[in-house]
This record gives sequence, structure tokens and C-alpha cells, in this order.
Amino acid sequence: MSRLISTGARYLTHRLLYMNVYDPSLVSVNTRCVLSYLRTLPRYKHPVSLLSTLCSLVDEKNIVLLGAPGARKTRVGVILGQLTGLPVIDIAEVLEKTWHMSVNQKLQQIGDELFLQEEGEILKSLSITRSIITLTGSNPMHPQSMYHIKKNGIIIYLDVPLEDLLERLEGMKVDHIVGLRPGIPVQEFLQCRQQFYHKWYDIRILCHFGDTSETVAEKVLDALKRHQGSSAFISTRSIAKTPELMKDPSTFTDVLIEGLALDGGLYVPADSLPEITVGEWQRLVEASYAERAQVLLERSVHPDDVPPVKLRKMVKRAYGQNFTCNSIAPIRHLTDNLFLLELFHGPTASFKDFALQMMPQLFAYCMPRTCSYLILMATSGDTGSAVLDGISCLSDNDKQRISVLTFFPEEGISLIQKEQMISYEGENVKTVGVKSNFEFCQTTMKQILTNSNYTGFLTVEYGSALSTANSINWACLLPQVIYHASAYLDLIKQGIIAFGDPVDVCIPTGNFSNVLAAVYAKCMGIPIRKFICASNQNNALTNFIKTGKYDLRYRTVTTSLSPGLDVLRPSNFERYLHLVAHGDGQLMRELFSQLDERNHFQVPDTLLRRIQHNLVSDWCSEEECLAAIYSVHKSAGYILDPHTAVAKVVADRQQDRSCPVIISSTAHPCKFAAGVLQALGVKEIGQHPIDQLQMLNSLNSLPSVHKTVLQRIGKIHVQNWQDSCPADPNVFMDTIENFIQQKFMRVI
Ligand SMILES: *Cc1c(COP(=O)(O)O)cnc(C)c1O
Repeated sequence: MSRLISTGARYLTHRLLYMNVYDPSLVSVNTRCVLSYLRTLPRYKHPVSLLSTLCSLVDEKNIVLLGAPGARKTRVGVILGQLTGLPVIDIAEVLEKTWHMSVNQKLQQIGDELFLQEEGEILKSLSITRSIITLTGSNPMHPQSMYHIKKNGIIIYLDVPLEDLLERLEGMKVDHIVGLRPGIPVQEFLQCRQQFYHKWYDIRILCHFGDTSETVAEKVLDALKRHQGSSAFISTRSIAKTPELMKDPSTFTDVLIEGLALDGGLYVPADSLPEITVGEWQRLVEASYAERAQVLLERSVHPDDVPPVKLRKMVKRAYGQNFTCNSIAPIRHLTDNLFLLELFHGPTASFKDFALQMMPQLFAYCMPRTCSYLILMATSGDTGSAVLDGISCLSDNDKQRISVLTFFPEEGISLIQKEQMISYEGENVKTVGVKSNFEFCQTTMKQILTNSNYTGFLTVEYGSALSTANSINWACLLPQVIYHASAYLDLIKQGIIAFGDPVDVCIPTGNFSNVLAAVYAKCMGIPIRKFICASNQNNALTNFIKTGKYDLRYRTVTTSLSPGLDVLRPSNFERYLHLVAHGDGQLMRELFSQLDERNHFQVPDTLLRRIQHNLVSDWCSEEECLAAIYSVHKSAGYILDPHTAVAKVVADRQQDRSCPVIISSTAHPCKFAAGVLQALGVKEIGQHPIDQLQMLNSLNSLPSVHKTVLQRIGKIHVQNWQDSCPADPNVFMDTIENFIQQKFMRVI
């Protein structure tokens, strides 16, 4: 250990000499502090190993602390220096030594603007490695010097609660802070500063109210370990359990671009999902939806894949102006202990917007610049329009490189869903109807995506690659975790529960992405108790959860009023099985090849008990669904869409009334206007979608009319549209090739 500390001290001496600010007393204080401090820490009985792991963690990089005045960067920096043995360089101190006067004096002498420039120049001239650097509060306002620091540093933002900052600043003299003068409200000043901090950080430490500097330093160390630890992904069918065993672990960028793993499995993180602490969640209770999203995403996506500042831009685009409700995913009391989580305020009126307003942006950011991408989609109705809208929000530049082809089943989806999709026809998007059901579309899509001969051919011939943007793709699941967490936080905000209280969720289940996202929210610390899965008569999954037998031998999909649930082989269920089977890829291979070959499998009893530990399931008939829409409208003046109605029926049957139940309301009723009007007993239902929508609106019930859908449907003429194809995989492949030919240039 002494060797490491003296190395640290040598470094510091060297650096300070280089900077002409050498002060021998500083070094000896540092060394003494480390020794005495380490002895007092029971947690770090083996400082040598801690030091060596951390040194290897940061390589040659600096650990750079950034934050508002009053964030205690300097104190946290000193403690971190003591814990790690790395030299600590406090920029304020460097400035004062260089200027031979205090920061305060300098500021009064030359004013804000020159001050920023001079301090920036000094920061830019520093050449430091393997140190802890604590920035001044104003450093981040000088871009050039920050680029310089960022090149060789992991930048950590100490995000301290406003209350703490205000209290601390009150005790400080404010005349030595850039931009803060008596008379300027401190809160306003701090909010204005935030944008500069947001621009630079790699990792944010969400400090809790009243955290001591020691606690914050420990949080920094934990975050650094996470940052350097494995962020690899494996396929659910991968036999190698740890990424070390695999030659070439996949990153977030890889799984986002590839979508489906080549072995036919789905990508999942090799390690567990990041956990968010109670204190951190509590800070998010008062936060906006976008801020909650930001925190969850930056925790789950490594900054080397997508830096937080880019995520912030994407979040703003995704959950900014284009939702019809400011709170994005509001929660509404229905009756008794039942709450509706309204997930239909996005531009295409279903919960698919949450994933698909975000995912295309991530895709455009991460995709390799060397090739064009065709995103293939099989849709049960709602995914199609959601991805088309998401793609339409991309920049023109990105649209040159990304196109979308959606296949939807002509059987089953509603007229309004169909019109929605067609209304997006444009330069880089195409929609094709298939004379079959969703199962066929989804299975064919999977076959095409894993057919390496075919995909290889497209790449060689056209410089184009295929990917997919439905919930098979990991990047679609993350944005769904956010609204489950957000709903829980909103119940706290409304005073209905306190953090830690259980809630149940009840979710109309098709491909199992929504339930899985709720399970992930629990893994990240939201105390959801039961996950109630609701299906319609296509109940292979809910039956399996009850019996452990997955049996498709005597089943075919039947169409229903709730097409999002017309699924017999929910792709995301494999991720759940993999999770509860503790990552047993071999078992996944066996089970799913049995399902492919023999159309059924059965899981061992021990596994079934683990599945049932959290999951409850049931299904509801078409009649019950219609009756629920009718009775809720009558008693509460609220119109449920058919998917939500299925969940309501199942929630009533399966819940034990001991805690709040959050029902995912996955679509706006207007998308299924014909079915809903039928349920409400309307006798003469108009043939045209626009008539149906107006009829629904005339009932003056909640939820209020979805303006975006209304506008879109008003504009289009479905009669002229006739892209449809037979249920034949070869025709799919021809369609794909033709579209690529049209869209992307041929490679010569
Ligand atoms: C897709 C969809 C579902 C099913 O969600 P999964 O995540 O696939 O289980 C439920 N309701 C609606 C309205 C949908 O569009």
C-alpha cells in the first residue's frame, strides 16, 4: 500500500511541479491523511486490493468531479483521494496558486467573462493523468477546456438536491461565484447552471438529501465500479454464462443494431440490471417524466454507447411536445383500489409509442456509418404506426440511412389501426398487408432476420443490413421500464402509498414486453408485488403460467377485439424464463427447440414455482370484455379500450384487494372505435373510421378525444392503397429486396 501511496504522492508532486504550483505541504498532508483515514475505515480492511482494483479501473484516466457551488466537490475529492491513493488536484487551488490571489479577488478584478476565459485557459494547459480532479463550479461553462478534460477523464456530476445547495450557499459568500450577485435568486442561478453540468458528465451521482461527503465519495466509487464492470449482453440461448467465457461479448450498441441474437435467442444483460436506491427513487418523486426517464436510461446505457447528454436530447424529443398530455403517462383512479396507467397519450395512441419514440433515435445514433439499415417490423397493429411515427421524427440525414418496412396481418387489426399506418406512407417507409395473422408475420420475420445467407446477400449486394424495432429489441424494453417506475412514483406523489408499499400491476399481455418491463422495474428497486397477466381467448401463455405446460398442439390464433393480445408465442417470455431459470441457456435451447419441433414443452416443477412466485394469470372472453367496457362506462363515465377491458376483468378476478392495483391502459379507445361502440350498445355504427371517431367523441366521456389520431385519419384515403401480399416467406423476401433496391443505391 505504501508503494501505491508514494506513487500517488510522486504523481502529485510531478504534476504540481509541471504546473508551477508545487507546494510540498500539500503532498505530505495528502499522504498523512490517506494513512490515518484508511485505518479508521472498517469497510476497507484490505486497502491494497481496493487500491489496485480501482487503479486498474480508471486506467490512465482522471476522475473528474463536477457540480454546482456548494456540491462539496473539493471535500468529496479529498476523501476519494484518501480512499484510492490517487493524487487530488483541486482546480480552484491551482488557479489561486497561478494567479497569486484568491478566486474572489480575481473575479472582482476582471469580471465574469474574462474570468471564465482565464480559468479555462489554465484548465486547458493542464496535462494530468490518473488523478482526481475537482473542477470549479464555473469550469463547465468553458467548452474548449472541458473537451480537453473530457478526453482523458471520466466526468462525474455530483447532483446534489436543491434544498441542500440552497442551505449551503446561504452560509457561503456569494460574491465569488460567476453569475451570482446579490439580488439574483439563488434558485434561478442554480437552474441556469444545470445545463452546463448536464452537457459534460459521464456518470451522475444522484445524491440524497443530507448525504455526507463520505457517503457521496462511496457512491462515486460504487458508480465507478459499475462503469468499469461488465456491461455485456448475452443471448438467452448462450451456453457460456459469463461474458469472460465468450470471446466477443456484445455491447448495448451491438444488441440495439442486431435486434435478435443469431442463435435465435434474445439479448439480455449478462449481469443483473442496475439497482436504484430508495434515496435515489425518492429524489425522483417530484421529478418530471423526462427526468425520470433520463435517470433510468443513463443508468442502463453505458456512456461509451450513448453519453447522457445525447440521451437527454433524445428524451426531450421523445417525451416532449408530441404527447397529448404533459404528464406523459398519467395515473388515474378508477374505482376502489384500481388505478389506470394511461399509456395512450403518445402520437399513435398506444403504449408502443413509449418504446418507439425513443428507439429509432438510439438506433440512428448507434448505427455504423458504413451501411444503410432496413428496419423490418411485424405488427399486431399498434407497433406499425408507432415505429412509423418514431422514424418520421428523425432528422433528414438519418432518414437517408434508415428505412422501415412493416408487415401487418390483414386479419384482425382494426380499420383505424390500418388507416393510421397507411397515413405514414412516405419516402423511406412502406406498409404491406399480409393475408394471414400476426403469428405468421412474426415467425416469418424472425426466420428472415436469422437467415444469414439472405442477410449476407443483402449486405454484399446492396450495402444494406436488416434489423428490427419491436420488443425483441432490448432498446425497446428500457423505455417501458420507465413508465412502470413512474406510475409508482406518482402514487407516492399523490399520497396514496409510501415508498416500499407493495402494489400489483395488471397488464393485457401479448408479446410479454410490458410485463417484462414491469419485472425489470422491480429488479431496479420498485417494489411491485404481483404481476397479473391478462390475455384474451388466445391464452396459451396464461395457461402455461397456471400449469407449466406450454402447448400449442391444438391451437390456432383466433382474431379478437384486442388484436395486441392475439399472440400464442410471446417472444419476450423467453427473457422472463431465462431470468427465473437463473440464466440457464441450455434449458432455453431445449425448451424452445421442443416448441419448434413438437409444438409443446413442460418446465420442471421447481421452475414453475419460481414462475408463479410473482406471476398470476388469467384470461377473459370477448363477451366479458364487451360487458366490462359497457359497465365501466356506465358507472364511471370512462371508456376502456378492449385491451384495457381485458385487464380490468382479470384484475377484478385475480386481485386480493390488499394493495393498489395499477392496470396498464395500453391503447386509447378511439383506435378500436367500432368494437367499443358495439360494446356500448350503439346500434348503427358508421362504416368510415372518421364517422366512428366522431360518434365516440359525441359520447362526451373520458378519456378525451385523441387529437393526433383524429387529424391523421381525417387526411387519408384508404381506397387507393393496395400493398398486400400472400402468406409466403418468399414473397416477403422479394418485397424486402425490391424495397431496398428502390430505396438504397446498389453497391457496385
Ligand atoms: C402490443 C399491445 C399489447 C400487448 O403488449 P405486449 O407488451 O406485447 O405484451 C397490449 N395492448 C395493446 C393496445 C397493444 O398494442
